[in-house]
Parts: sequence; structure tokens; C-alpha cells
Amino acid sequence: MTTLTGIGYDSHRLTDGRKLILGGVEIPGDRGLDGHSDADVLTHAVIDALLGAAGLGDIGEHFPDTDERYRDADSIELLETVLTRVVAQGIEPVNVDATVVMERPKLAPHREAIRERLAVALGLAIGRVNVKATTGEGMGFVGRGEGVTALAVVSVRIAD
Ligand code: MG
Repeated sequence: MTTLTGIGYDSHRLTDGRKLILGGVEIPGDRGLDGHSDADVLTHAVIDALLGAAGLGDIGEHFPDTDERYRDADSIELLETVLTRVVAQGIEPVNVDATVVMERPKLAPHREAIRERLAVALGLAIGRVNVKATTGEGMGFVGRGEGVTALAVVSVRIAD
């Protein structure tokens, strides 16, 4: 087996009147993320990392934000679609490590639910999906509460 690795990065703006969905889990709060889909910044980073590991491009190629089919799309469903395309290449995910950078609310109370949601979507054991959270320490657009960013690394394996 050969192991391959991909990275993913995404950011979305925080705004009033939207749900905050991270890793497929709705986080209670007064603001959410703006975007064409459900703007699940964490799942988008995981999708890009998975596509990167598999050498299959990026989320924008697979799900153009000009396509009305993807308006308010459930990003977990997009992840499941990407997984199908990855598995069709004989490639399977091994593990995920991700970081959400967000000033508030605290992610810790929701971390296990997020890990489980992503693990189920990827067909992985929960122990193979790690989700971390940090803040911008008051600096930059994240620190000012204007947006949220997420980074992810995904490893996959393919038969030689
Ligand atoms: Mg995105």
C-alpha cells in the first residue's frame, strides 16, 4: 500500500441570519457562516484535503458555486459524494486531522459530535478523525469575529 496526504483550507464570513454548521453539526449561536452551500467551513477543508490526497482537484471543480444545485447544499452530502469519487479510484481514507480557527463560540462542547459526524461520512472509526479548535487571539479577521477558517489534513491509501 502507498499512503498519500492532502491539505485543505477554507474560510467563510460570519453573518446574521445564518446557521453555524461545522462538521455537519449545528452549533447554537446568534450568527452563522455565509456561503452558497451551508458554508460548513470545516467540512469544506476536509473535502479539499481528501481531494488533494487523491489527486482529484478541489471542491470548486466538483461543486461550482455558480451551480444552483449546490445552493444551501448539505456539505456532509458533498463529502459523501467526494468519497464515492475517491473510492472509485481505488483510494480509501485513513485519517483526518483538522483545526477550526474561530473566536467564539467554544467548539469543545460539540467536538465529539463533529468527530462522529465526519467519521460516519468517511467510513472511519472516530479515533481516526481528530478535530481541534483554536482562536485568532483577537488578531485579524478571525480575531475580530468576522469569519471562521478551517484547515485539514487527510491521509489515504492506495494499493500498489
Ligand atoms: Mg467553503
